[in-house]
Amino acid sequence: MIRAFLVGCCLGVMGLIPLNAQAKTHVLITAGQSNTDGRVSNKQLPAYIKALATDTVEYLDGAYRYCKIAQNRADGQFVSFFPKGRINQGLWAYDAVTYYQLEQVLQQDFYVVKYAVGGTSIQYPNDSAKGRYWSANPDWLAKTVSIEKGGQSLLLSLTDAIDAAIDETLTKLEGGYTIDAFLWHQGESDNRYPKTYYANLKALVDYVRNHLTAKTGIDYSQLPFIFGTVSTANRQYHPLVEAGMRRLANDDPNAYLIDMSNGTLLGDRLHFDAPAATYLGEEMFNILSKVMPINHHGFRVATFKDDKRAAVSYTFDDALIEHATLVAPRMEKLGFRGTFWVNGRTVSDTSAALGKPRTSWKQLKQMARAGHEVSNHGWAHRNVTRLNPEELRHEVAFNDTLIYRHTGVFPRTFCYPGNSKNDSVIAVIEKGRVGTRTFQFSLGSKSTKENLEKRVDEWFTKGEWAVAMTHGINYGYDAFRNADVFWEHLNHVKTREDSLWVGTFSDVAAYTKAQKALTYSVTATSKGFTVTPHLNLDETLFRVPLTGVIEQVHLKKITVRQGGKRLKVRILPDKTLFDFDPYGGPIDVVLTLEK
Ligand SMILES: [Zn+2]
Repeated sequence: MIRAFLVGCCLGVMGLIPLNAQAKTHVLITAGQSNTDGRVSNKQLPAYIKALATDTVEYLDGAYRYCKIAQNRADGQFVSFFPKGRINQGLWAYDAVTYYQLEQVLQQDFYVVKYAVGGTSIQYPNDSAKGRYWSANPDWLAKTVSIEKGGQSLLLSLTDAIDAAIDETLTKLEGGYTIDAFLWHQGESDNRYPKTYYANLKALVDYVRNHLTAKTGIDYSQLPFIFGTVSTANRQYHPLVEAGMRRLANDDPNAYLIDMSNGTLLGDRLHFDAPAATYLGEEMFNILSKVMPINHHGFRVATFKDDKRAAVSYTFDDALIEHATLVAPRMEKLGFRGTFWVNGRTVSDTSAALGKPRTSWKQLKQMARAGHEVSNHGWAHRNVTRLNPEELRHEVAFNDTLIYRHTGVFPRTFCYPGNSKNDSVIAVIEKGRVGTRTFQFSLGSKSTKENLEKRVDEWFTKGEWAVAMTHGINYGYDAFRNADVFWEHLNHVKTREDSLWVGTFSDVAAYTKAQKALTYSVTATSKGFTVTPHLNLDETLFRVPLTGVIEQVHLKKITVRQGGKRLKVRILPDKTLFDFDPYGGPIDVVLTLEK
């Protein structure tokens, strides 16, 4: 749509064309518990919001210029937004800040469907809560209905509200509408059911995405989900709830988590105060401005390196000798690099048993030198969920040290032996790493040419990062019935490399994490624009080049500089790409369009 508009208008137009000129009306969904409903007094609203109030004593009434909201209502009707709590009128939450910032950028009407109720958990039943739950458990949902219809399901209240909004208002908008994101803050009331939080939250997000897809016929499976952690000072804080959130943000390429660990609270030690609510609202906006097609001169940061559509990492467990003698050379020939997970204890084990013989340190060093990732799979392949802290240190940290000593490269990732893991052990092991293998698909005895080709197609449809787990090629656990299936698969993948990034686990994990956490501002200059990136992650782990994309077509000339240095620019028929340093300061883009 963007491109068609530009092509139609490019003649005689100089400078940048507002890319949102024909955009559909933007719609957001916002939901959660009390910190989303709002618990900060309107007397503490930021001054720029107070300026929109008609009641300048209590700041109870007023209207935003463009934001329309349907808040906790089932009739699909919208009113001009001004911050209000569900029960107590004079209260606001983070979203008031997000909407304000969004309307500054959009300068056009947009719609929010909001549903928030204090003290509510996802898990049911939860007798500490109010008899209403967000759970997406299908058996339970089949037995209940929305709150408005006399049931107990907040999720059905939300989806009923969305459906009513679509039927009564959104479908009647000229030019159509698009749902851009799902904003969420919740988790406090699940502190009694922390172990199920990850699964509960994931099911909820999937439910909303599937519901939207079914309702509209448009694929919302990749709807951005933007959420925040609970402050560690909160009296309902639970580290496993936070670990569950981090895991979802890790596993789901379209989930964006804002770290609110240091969020300051009101005297009740439950609710964000004005500075924390403002911060969360601003961060929500920063992520929205990345994921929404709003006017940034067509600038965005690619989800995957070189703006490829999907990514795949080939990972090999247990360091079988044929990983060194067969796999690594084959991959190098194709220009690919793999990830090899090593158990220090069994390196150089030459006995012929299941999964043996194993590589030597010398071979692993050569593989590391050739650019493969040689990383940690536990020293003795023990189930890390069953170890005490001292044993865990030995299993993980000692193996790091061994690998470093023998290969010269310190592992920055980890692969759970037997894939055994839980949210608390993930949180411990991920410290100081770019990532750990928390999801994978098996490549081995059950693989066939047909099912692998189908899988590759899926990567493209979903735009996902696939992580392949392989043990044996010719021998050992889950070995291929015919090794040619694997070699042909690699050849097939090579033919699709134009839009598929084949990278080591470490490289893709670092890129995707940095890309998600990155925020930036874009300001227009006389000859183009300046992007100022900001990345609040450990620089020693995440200083990786990110790919900037400019959607603007018909460029005559473009130069991109960062820190006084000219960056290499690749001009393609439909876009322009360049790699930048997320910690390298402002990026100056100077461009001229064809006449
Ligand atoms: Zn293993």
